[in-house]
Amino acid sequence: MMTKVRGWGRPDARVATLSLWLGVATVAAHALRVRTVGLPAAPDVVPLAILLVAFALTEGFAIHVRVRRGGHAMSLSEIPMVLGLLSVDPTLLLCVRLIGGVVGLSVLRRQRGVKLGFNIALLGVQTTAATVLLRMLAGPVLPSGPQEWLYVLIAMLLSDVIAAVLVTAVIALHDDPSEWRRLPSTLRGLPLVAITTSIGLISALAIERDARAIALLAVVCAVTYRAYRAFVHQSQGHQQVEELYAFTRALDGPLDTRGVARIVLEQARDQLRAERAELIIPDAGGAHVRLRMHGANIFEIGTAEALPETAWWQPARGGEPVLVAKGSRVIGSVEDGIAVPVPLNDGESGVLLVADSLPDIPTFGEQHVRLFQALANHASLSLTKARLLDDLRREVAQKEHLANYDPLTGLPNRQRFQALTDRLRSAGTPVAVLLMDLDRFKDVNDALGHDVGDQLLRLVGERLQERLGDRGTVARFGGDEFAVLLPNIRTREVAIAVGDDLGAAMEHPIPIGHLRLNARCSIGIALAPEHGHDAKTLIQRADVAMYVAKTTHTGVRVYTSDDDRNSPRRLAMVADLREAIQRHDLVVVFQPKLSTATGAVVGAEALARWHHPEHGFVPPDEFIPLAEHSGLIRPLTLHVLEVSLRRCAAWRRAGHDIHVAVNLSPNSLQESDLPDIVARLLGQAGVPASALTLEITESSIMADPTGALVILDRLHALGVKLAIDDFGTGYSSLGRLRELPIHEMKIDRSFVQRIAVDHRDRAVVRSAVQLGHALDLMVVAEGVEDEETLHHLRQEGCNLVQGFYISKPLPADEFANWLSARVGVA
Ligand code: C2E
Ligand code: CA
Ligand code: CA
Repeated sequence: MMTKVRGWGRPDARVATLSLWLGVATVAAHALRVRTVGLPAAPDVVPLAILLVAFALTEGFAIHVRVRRGGHAMSLSEIPMVLGLLSVDPTLLLCVRLIGGVVGLSVLRRQRGVKLGFNIALLGVQTTAATVLLRMLAGPVLPSGPQEWLYVLIAMLLSDVIAAVLVTAVIALHDDPSEWRRLPSTLRGLPLVAITTSIGLISALAIERDARAIALLAVVCAVTYRAYRAFVHQSQGHQQVEELYAFTRALDGPLDTRGVARIVLEQARDQLRAERAELIIPDAGGAHVRLRMHGANIFEIGTAEALPETAWWQPARGGEPVLVAKGSRVIGSVEDGIAVPVPLNDGESGVLLVADSLPDIPTFGEQHVRLFQALANHASLSLTKARLLDDLRREVAQKEHLANYDPLTGLPNRQRFQALTDRLRSAGTPVAVLLMDLDRFKDVNDALGHDVGDQLLRLVGERLQERLGDRGTVARFGGDEFAVLLPNIRTREVAIAVGDDLGAAMEHPIPIGHLRLNARCSIGIALAPEHGHDAKTLIQRADVAMYVAKTTHTGVRVYTSDDDRNSPRRLAMVADLREAIQRHDLVVVFQPKLSTATGAVVGAEALARWHHPEHGFVPPDEFIPLAEHSGLIRPLTLHVLEVSLRRCAAWRRAGHDIHVAVNLSPNSLQESDLPDIVARLLGQAGVPASALTLEITESSIMADPTGALVILDRLHALGVKLAIDDFGTGYSSLGRLRELPIHEMKIDRSFVQRIAVDHRDRAVVRSAVQLGHALDLMVVAEGVEDEETLHHLRQEGCNLVQGFYISKPLPADEFANWLSARVGVA
């Protein structure tokens, strides 16, 4: 049995050095011997020549035995070795064995370079070890008979063990430390050494009697060789089938692409006896992922934007297997390799390749290609499944992320903040909730545009998070509202200290481009369990404290029940408003919109009215913001929508072809189910979508342009018309206006009301009308209070007008009467 080194990893230089040292040791040992014993007498050439041929043949026709990725080559070289040990001078034996080895390994097994060098050096050491061992056991003169046989057997076995240990040590040192685990399985071949050695000894006896027995020996060798080979092939074939089963079983779990690739590459390398294996698959973004395994099962993953067009394996992408054998025309950078296509879902295809066959197989051949294709087919099925799973996982993660994080700042959103708070609370952890909003953020947004506004919010988020560190969690609730969750806060003093610290962090202006913006904030704090137990209550109380902090310019404020007394009207109003909405006590009034060209009524704007049982009439400018800050705006909006559509249906049934316009507040554009609700209400009322206009302000779009745009697009797709309300009060969106699916522009009444007296306002209105028309929008002027204003607007080309001059907002029944009377007049 011979142990040979298998595939070498990179450190070729170190292996070369080691081989050199082994060679030096061998030569030194023999030089020492020649100096003491002298040169051998002129030898008989014929036996030497026969030995040389025998070594070349046995080395060249070694049988490879696979042990997982490792393996060893079994040869019959013990037979000539035993003959040589018994009859030839040790130094001559060394020379013959080395020359025979070189011929066998390089010519018959086509080994080259460092591998060849090491294996030759190993032969030298092994031969020397055997001769030295034999002398040590037997002394200068060999005894004859059983004693001699025993000594030879021991010397052969020991020299083989030395070689095996040496090879293992070298591989373990340079390539794969786990190689030591394979040593026992390598040594399982020792009994075979006993057999070949015995054949050698018997042959020696026979040849001593009659030299022609050498012919019989050749026959015995040939038969033994064939028997060995058949045995090895059979057991290896068995092993291969088992490995393929194990392979499919290993691939049978819910693996991701990496997991599958890992197993496939490992298997490809083992089965094809290759130094490296690689899998190239297209990834989601049009790039390619390259997964590679080499050395001691080193697994690497890289991505490539474009694949090298000239690579040898390129044809495999087109579906053609590629075989590069050693000695064939060199294509690209490999000596030998196989590449096969791996069909994937969506008609895409990947490539599976192996390169650099291990030294024990001469090169890759057709039979390897067939085996490789079978492997690739298994891989293809598993990869397709894994890629679908990957996609699913990615989608789920994305959805989860969107539902829990604010896309602008990447911070947790309100929903996640509440969940985190409630989770801590249910574990009994005391927490503090800090709520803050930026002072005068709306001004920044209006004056400098939403890009700057967005950037400011992002930087504020970053700064808060940085300052807070691991003391707690920062979240953004939308708009300019941020929240901080502090776990394990037991006293208000600690919470205030954190609040002061965050406030101080915001004192420094924030640089954006060449601007330096102030983002001072007011902070309200609520503590659990002192002020409440669940997230909702805590947030609401922190909000009250913040409100007081803002109005009293206190900066940071912890909630006290005094705050409720400070804004008793506010809190009471919230409760009353909630009740009013639930009981449908909110009244909706309608104000007509008139065509300047024909004088016809084209529609009506719905406006909410609230008559408080104690305080009387509450202006919308007061209760709408209240609703927005207390979570009541959604039911309010739905109520107004429902009433308006019901009324509109009635007018239309009465023969008036008019639309109804409903105001949306900023928060509504962040509710993704709005389009569905609108569609449902339209259906219920039996009003065509084109008869509904939704009025939105620029700033409500700018609070979250991307999110708002998605919802606006969906509303637009329904056929609902969209109007920009209060146009002119913010300069932020002129550029954006083009991208929005809007239909109507309403010039703010602050400009309209003074056009008769102020030429600057007239200029604003004129350019607004021109801009609107350039964008194919209907232009509406609101707040028309007199004839003169109407006259100017007509001159400027304004399409629609609305205002007290035409009619005040009227309760539904009065509006219907007004409408009929007007038609009668017309
Ligand atoms: P807006 O959308 O700009 O509504 C027009 C406002 O101008 C109404 O005030 C209307 O009464 C008033 N107005 C109409 N013609 C004239 C006029 O000739 N002269 C003057 N000085 N004012 C006129 P209102 O009803 O007080 O509403 C104020 C704001 O409250 C509205 O401004 C709108 O932003 C909001 N609002 C009212 N109802 C709702 C609603 O149902 N939902 C939402 N989200 N907001 C609403
Ligand atoms: Ca409006
Ligand atoms: Ca308006």
